[in-house]
Amino acid sequence: MQTLHGFPGGLALEARKDQSTAKPLARVPLGFEYVLPLLQHEGDPAQARVSVGDRVLRGQVIARAEGYLSLPIHAPTSGTVTGILPRPIPHPSGLLAECIVIEADGLDEAAETKAPIEDPAAVHPSRLRNRLRECGVAGLGGAAFPTHVKLNPTAERPIETLIINGAQCEPYISCDDRLLREKADEVVAGTAVMLTALHASQALIAIENDTPQAMAAVDEALARYSDDRIRRVAVPTIYPEGGERQLIQTLTGREVPSRGLPADIGVICHNVGTARAAWRAIHHGEALTERVVTVTGNGVTAPRNVIARLGTPVADLVAFCGGYTDSVARLIMGGPMMGFALGSDEVSVVKGTTCILAADNSEILLEKQSMPCIRCGECAETCPAGLLPQQLYWHAHERDWEGVENFHLFDCIECGCCDVVCPSHIPLVQYFRAAKTEIWARQRDREKSDIARARYEQRQARLAREAEEKKRRHEEKKKALAGRKKGDDKVKSELDAIMSRVKQRKKGDN
Ligand code: SF4
Ligand code: SF4
Repeated sequence: MQTLHGFPGGLALEARKDQSTAKPLARVPLGFEYVLPLLQHEGDPAQARVSVGDRVLRGQVIARAEGYLSLPIHAPTSGTVTGILPRPIPHPSGLLAECIVIEADGLDEAAETKAPIEDPAAVHPSRLRNRLRECGVAGLGGAAFPTHVKLNPTAERPIETLIINGAQCEPYISCDDRLLREKADEVVAGTAVMLTALHASQALIAIENDTPQAMAAVDEALARYSDDRIRRVAVPTIYPEGGERQLIQTLTGREVPSRGLPADIGVICHNVGTARAAWRAIHHGEALTERVVTVTGNGVTAPRNVIARLGTPVADLVAFCGGYTDSVARLIMGGPMMGFALGSDEVSVVKGTTCILAADNSEILLEKQSMPCIRCGECAETCPAGLLPQQLYWHAHERDWEGVENFHLFDCIECGCCDVVCPSHIPLVQYFRAAKTEIWARQRDREKSDIARARYEQRQARLAREAEEKKRRHEEKKKALAGRKKGDDKVKSELDAIMSRVKQRKKGDN
C-alpha cells in the first residue's frame, strides 16, 4: 500500500471526460497530406534528409536527429515529399516553422523495421536508449522531451523510483485513460524496459481514482506480467495531480528543488503513452509515427479518442469525429487549463498533441474585464507550487524581473489555478508567461553580449601578446646587432694594429 502525501492547493474541477471515453480507440483513416514540423520535441530541430520529389515509406527516417538532445522524424505513411518549407505549426506563438510535407499515395507501404530486442534485460541500457532515440520516442504527455535523455541517469544522481504518469488531470483529456483500458499490457511491458534502462528499484503506475476501468486493466496486466517491482497506485482526482512535480510530491512526499529536476531526488516521471511507445520501439522495432489523441468538446459532433498518424491535419481528426457543431467557438490544443488556442485546423498532430478541444463558450474561460487586486489571497491558497501569485503579479506588472525571480517565477507550472479563482479576473498566467519570455530574452541577450565581450577581450589579449612578441624580437635583433658591432670594432682595432706594425717595419727597412 503506497502512502499518499498530496500537494498544496489545487482545484477540484468538473470532469468532462465521459464525452470521449465511451467509444473505443479508432484509427483515423489515411489522409491526403501529412505535415511534419522538424521540431516536435524539446531540444534541437531535426535536419531534413529527403528532397522534394523523393518517395518515402512509412517508418523511414525523413529528418535525422541533430545532436544528443534531438530526435529523428519518420514518415507516417508512404508517399512523395512535396515540400520542405515553413508552415503553421501547433505552437502558442502561432508562428510558421520548417516542415516536411508528404503527399500520401494511399498504399501505406512500410520501410523495414529494426530487429526486435527480444530480451531487454540482457542488453546494455545504452542499447535501449539508442533504440529509443533511433525510433524517435519522445514524452507523449505533452512536453515531448526526448525519452532516451531522461532514461540516462548519471552516477551522481542514481534513480530509485520510476513514476509512470497516468494521472491525466485536465478535465477533458482522456487519451491516457483509453490507452490504459486497451493497451495496459504494453504499458506495463514498457515500464519494465524503462526500469531496466534506469537501474531503478521500483515503478509506480499512477492513475487518478475516477478511472476504474483503466485501473482494472492495469491490475490485470500486472497480474499477467508478474513483475513485483511494478505497482499501480490510485491518486486523488485533483487538478493538477498530473503535473510532474505535484505527482512526485503526492507519491513520495518529497519536493523537487526549486529550478531543479526530479532526478535530483532520485525520481523520473514518464507518461503512460511514452512507456507504450518505448515497448513498441524495443520489442517491435517500430518508429513513433502515431499517437492517441482526444478529440472532444461541445464543438465537435462525436467526441472520442483516436489513433492519429503524426502529421495528420487537425481538420481530418475533427472530420473523422463527425465535424464541427454549430456552437464551436474556439479550437484548443491540450486542455482548457493549460492548452493554447489554435489559429486554424490546418496545423497537424505532433508528438506532444494530447487533445484537440473544439470548445463552445461554456467550456472556455471567457476573458472578463480585470479589476484591481484586492489582496484576498485566494490565488496563494490554490497554488499547487506553493507560490505567492499576487506577489509575482505585482513584480511582473512593474517589470521588476529580479523581484519575480526572487518569488520563484520559474517554479510556476502555468496550471492556471490562480487565474480560475481570482475574483478580480486578473489574467495572472499571462503575466507570468510574459515575464518568463522577457527574462529568457534578457538572458539570451546577456549571453550574447558575454560572448561578444569574451571575444573582444580575447582579441585584445592576442594583440597585446603579439605586440610583446614583436618588442622582444626587436630587442633581440638590437642586441645581436650591438654584439656584431662590438665584434667589428675589435676586428678593426686588430687590423689597425697590424697596419701600424707593417708601417713601423717599413720605416725600419728604409
Ligand atoms: S486572487 Fe486575484 S485579487 Fe485575490 S490576491 Fe490573488 S491576484 Fe489579488
Ligand atoms: S499558474 Fe503558477 S502561480 Fe498560478 S497557481 Fe499555477 S503554479 Fe501557482
